[in-house]
Amino acid sequence: MTESQLRADIVEVGRRMYARGYTASNDGNISVRLGADRLLMTPKSVCKGFMTPDMMCITDLDGRKLQGDRDPSSEMLMHLEVYRQRADVQAVVHAHPPTATGFAVAGIPLDRAVLAEVVTTLGSVPIAEYATPSTSELPQAVRKYIRAHDGMLLANHGALTVGGDLFGAYYKMETIEHFAKISLVARLLGRENLISREEVLRLQQLRGSYGIAAPAPICAADDVSEDPAACQVIQAPSGAGARLVPAAGDEVPPKPQAEAEIRLTYRQLSALIEDAIRSLR
Ligand SMILES: [Zn+2]
Repeated sequence: MTESQLRADIVEVGRRMYARGYTASNDGNISVRLGADRLLMTPKSVCKGFMTPDMMCITDLDGRKLQGDRDPSSEMLMHLEVYRQRADVQAVVHAHPPTATGFAVAGIPLDRAVLAEVVTTLGSVPIAEYATPSTSELPQAVRKYIRAHDGMLLANHGALTVGGDLFGAYYKMETIEHFAKISLVARLLGRENLISREEVLRLQQLRGSYGIAAPAPICAADDVSEDPAACQVIQAPSGAGARLVPAAGDEVPPKPQAEAEIRLTYRQLSALIEDAIRSLR
């Protein structure tokens, strides 16, 4: 692909991210490999919805600017880390899509087996530990998960996706936000039926037949000792019908009497206290 085509594609992905509300103001950043040792990257401090192809920066893999009127993205260090760790990655997208970022703020990873397509494509979406944006802490936090995952949440910050080409990386961002919205609705409805571990392993086998190049296998485990740096840990119960959230119609066991709630008016409560004081005299 030519450099001018890649510049135009970054502009287009930026427009889509902004139009879909994945970024506000100057948030977010996009980069793509330009040959073996150069990157084409969005510049610092521009709204991703209003970029033009000439705004992009060219850097080397150590982040030195080779070309461009503007400075490269403030999250350049995170992008460089991804390219260093993943020779297969051609493009990196970072944004703050609101629902997925809500999960990142709540500290809830998108790692439950609820959508067959997400299991097949992304596997799990873990949360990289909080790090100050734009510092070298952020690449460190990302390093832990990037070898095994094409998408992750960044605690109290946003989301990061990577791909074999620019649109592939961008579509994973769409998938994460879509997954987050559906997960939120299911949890609001009070039911979240999980796909069984056996089915998750069957879905994993489909990756091969659809030509999906996942960076690591799925460990369909509720065993928390699985290493998120080596595999995609998905919460999937063994056997059918298991739920993490009880269904709305499920019997709720009665509370023991000792914990039962008693409601008193202020007048009744005052009377009880006065009685108690009186009996003390
Ligand atoms: Zn950010």
